[in-house]
Amino acid sequence: MSLYNNSEKKEKECSKCHQIKPYSEFKFYTNSKKRRPTCKKCDIKAEAYRLQMKSWINKIQAIRFVTKDLNRCQICNEVGIDNLPMLDFHHLDPELSTIKAREKGFWRSVRYKNWSIIKNEIIKQKVIVICRNCHMKLQSKFFYEYMDIILKIHDPTVITPTLIPNHALRQGIQRIVRKKLMILDICRGYCTSCGFGITFNNIDNLPALEIHHLDPLKKTKPISYYFITVSDMDKLRNIIINENCICLCRNCHIMVQSTFFQENKSKIFSKYCEKYGSFDYY
Ligand SMILES: [Zn+2]
Ligand SMILES: [Zn+2]
Ligand SMILES: [Zn+2]
Repeated sequence: MSLYNNSEKKEKECSKCHQIKPYSEFKFYTNSKKRRPTCKKCDIKAEAYRLQMKSWINKIQAIRFVTKDLNRCQICNEVGIDNLPMLDFHHLDPELSTIKAREKGFWRSVRYKNWSIIKNEIIKQKVIVICRNCHMKLQSKFFYEYMDIILKIHDPTVITPTLIPNHALRQGIQRIVRKKLMILDICRGYCTSCGFGITFNNIDNLPALEIHHLDPLKKTKPISYYFITVSDMDKLRNIIINENCICLCRNCHIMVQSTFFQENKSKIFSKYCEKYGSFDYY
C-alpha cells in the first residue's frame, strides 16, 4: 500500500506532448510544491523556442535601429530585412569590439539580451549592418591582395616554388586557384540558388562562394580541406561530384541552415509588429 501513497511513484500526463510520465519528470513551480503541467523535456523545448523568437525579434529591431529604417545591407543595398539571417553586424572600428564579440561575433554575443542593452552595445561598438556576402568580402584581405595573380592562373601546377618561393603564400594562392577552377568548372561560377557569382574574367565575388553538401551523409570533410590537400584536379572534381555538392553564396548558404527562421518567419514578423508596431519589411 505504501507504494501508492508515495506521490513520487505516481504518473501524470504532460499537457503538451500528452505522454504519461512519472512525477519526477515534472518540475515544481518556483517556490511552490505544485508541479508544472508540462514535462521537463517539453519545458526545455519551450525555453529554446522562446529564446530563438526573442533573438530574431531583437535582430529586426537592431537592424531597423542601425540602418535608420532603410533595412538593407549598408554596402550592396541588395539584401533586405525579410532575409533576416543574411544580414550581419560588422564593427566599423575593430578596436571598439568587446572580447565576447571577438570570440562569437557581435550578434551572438548580445542576441538574447534585452533590447535596451543591445541598443547600448550597438552605439558603443559602432556596428553597421551588412549581408554575409559583403561581410566575407570585407574580411578576405589575402584574396584581394593577390586577386590579380589568382585571376591569371588557370592551371595550379604552374604555381611552383620558383614562381612563388614563400611556402605559406604559395599554398594560400594554390588553395584559392583550385577553388576558383572548381567553381567555374562544376558550378559554372554561380550560386545555384541566386545567381551571384564569378566569371572567367571577374572573380571579385569568389570569397563569398562556398561549396555546400546537398546530402550531409555524403560529406567526408569540408571541401575547403580538399582545396588545400588535393593537387590533382580530376581527383578534386570527382570528390565534389561524388559528395553531391553545389555552389552557394554565403547568403543563400545561411538560409539553408536557418531552419527555425524558415519555419517561423511569418510568426517572427507578426510577433515583432505586435511588440513594436508594424512596418514595411518587404
Ligand atoms: Zn511533454
Ligand atoms: Zn551586401
Ligand atoms: Zn546565392
